[in-house]
Amino acid sequence: MAQRPYIVGNWKMHGTRAMLAEARAIDRAAERLIKVEVALAPPATLIHATRKEATLIGVGAQDCHPADGGAHTGDISAAMLKDAGAGFTIVGHSERRADHGESDADVKAKAEAVLASGMNVIVCVGETEEQRDAGKAESVVAKQLKASLPTGEGVAEKVTVAYEPVWAIGTGRTPTVDDIGAMHRSIRKVVQGIYGDEDGAGVRILYGGSVKPDNAAELLAADEVGGALVGGASLTAESFLGIIVAAAEAGED
Ligand code: PEP
Repeated sequence: MAQRPYIVGNWKMHGTRAMLAEARAIDRAAERLIKVEVALAPPATLIHATRKEATLIGVGAQDCHPADGGAHTGDISAAMLKDAGAGFTIVGHSERRADHGESDADVKAKAEAVLASGMNVIVCVGETEEQRDAGKAESVVAKQLKASLPTGEGVAEKVTVAYEPVWAIGTGRTPTVDDIGAMHRSIRKVVQGIYGDEDGAGVRILYGGSVKPDNAAELLAADEVGGALVGGASLTAESFLGIIVAAAEAGED
């Protein structure tokens, strides 16, 4: 791995203030694991408190509304998230695409709003099991990338891609290391097509989907994997730190 591995925890709709103790423990341990860039995306209600508790790791959001403000009851703008302490926002997670019918165009609009607010963005893509079985995984993901990624001068350095096969999220199933490598190489090509060879080479591509302490080393060693987006296993400091330690060891190669 050329850059520091980037390990991001996505707490999804989990966590009340009682969980801040986990964030604190992760932050304390991260101090000793400087070879890894660690971040947490707690629910929006905990962003401000997490930022105050955890001073070393990155803190981000899981979604935003694309508009600056207005009559959008229950929604939160990128600027509001940044004001609460977020340094990045995840957009296009498959649970948002499925639960809220978000299209690639919606995801791109959100990504643009995130960048306009001054935050970095993690753009999620990934195929369903049906699409993989039909041999369409790479073409589906390429199409998502072309339609979801924000473009423009200086944008590439603020963008991270997370490849998350829908069928691997929360299921305990993962693609093979070879399949992850093949997909990440394909993503790299598409990203370089969008941002140019040099800028596209610097975009981090995370793998996400059932990453756990016991499979992290293997998954992180796959070709072109720059880190992981972790759901369930990021909910306790103990399991998340197991992944971070594996990433620190992978980063030494
Ligand atoms: C996710 O939701 O981004 C995710 C990867 O979840 P899990 O690690 O639980 O599969």
